[in-house]
Amino acid sequence: MFIGHFALGVATKKIAPTLPIWILLLAPQFMDLMFMPLVALGIEGYELGAYGHDTLDALYTHSLVGAAVIAALAYWIGNKFWRDSNGGLILAALSFSHCIIDLFVHHQDMAILPGNLGDLPLLGFGLWNFEYSVFAIEVAMAIIASVFYVQWAKAEKKGPRWFVGPTLVTAFFVILIAADIPRLPAV
Ligand SMILES: [Zn+2]
Repeated sequence: MFIGHFALGVATKKIAPTLPIWILLLAPQFMDLMFMPLVALGIEGYELGAYGHDTLDALYTHSLVGAAVIAALAYWIGNKFWRDSNGGLILAALSFSHCIIDLFVHHQDMAILPGNLGDLPLLGFGLWNFEYSVFAIEVAMAIIASVFYVQWAKAEKKGPRWFVGPTLVTAFFVILIAADIPRLPAV
């Protein structure tokens, strides 16, 4: 699940109209954003595979405790910049949603404690084994999110250029979806 995280953020625009769309896109991906520097430092890592079959070593950013820490950071950012519009709670919830969604799709690679301290069981229900179903869910989420965003922009954005944001976001989803299609397993 990659597109779905972005979609959830975009779909939130309707209930969080005063938060800019870019932060709503980014917040559900804070965990993956933290993952990247840790990969660069060699602390976490990944090996690309077919769709749904990347091998991930993300024992810090994608641990339950790590996710809670990152959500706390999201809360701090939201509170600092968008306090009046409940930005802290919204960004924290979006950030932590990444962990909940990943728990369903990941292949038992999510730790409870950072670095899998104490060798506790790794979590993940492995829905990624149903590649086409997860992909269909991601596409559906992207469509719903885009429709919500169009509806919101059309109703709320004054001026003739209301469609610019929704068009950019929809194009972004189309690119991500098109990039995933060749990675799907042969039927
Ligand atoms: Zn992730």
